[in-house]
Amino acid sequence: MSAVHAVKLVRAAGVRIGIDGDALTLDADAAPPSAVLDLLARHKARVIALLRPSGDGWSGEDWRAFFDERAGIAEFDGSLPRDQAEARAFAACVAEWLNRNPVRSPPGRCHGCGAGEHGHDPLLPFSTEPTGHAWLHARCWPSWHASRKAEAIAALSTFEIHETGTSP
Ligand SMILES: [Zn+2]
Repeated sequence: MSAVHAVKLVRAAGVRIGIDGDALTLDADAAPPSAVLDLLARHKARVIALLRPSGDGWSGEDWRAFFDERAGIAEFDGSLPRDQAEARAFAACVAEWLNRNPVRSPPGRCHGCGAGEHGHDPLLPFSTEPTGHAWLHARCWPSWHASRKAEAIAALSTFEIHETGTSP
């Protein structure tokens, strides 16, 4: 079972789940069924990962809401089939993740290979992110950008958001 599904079941049982630092907090008007508590215990680490805001200020739930909103817009306003709408939403998530997790590097040294500037090989201020520059040689940029993208995809997958959509 996915952490997202577990959270849904727990909430459906009337339990309010919160995050306090690294811990889960539970609140309910009546004692929740033990099956629900077992479920939470089994998925605890992933539930925390899903609900806790990360360094960029968004929790996994925020990312999923963003994905769903983008997919809905593409599907209903853009009249795209669901799979294409999800692919577009995923690309929007990757772009948003890069914006929210910017890399800035000091000028004078390539953020890719670590070497300095040479006359024939100047350092350029790349900013796919509007929030800052990373200084790189032109030839070092493609692999650096690919690794940044892979980082975004890995981060999104911990929230169960994938190129093929969200797992249930
Ligand atoms: Zn370089």
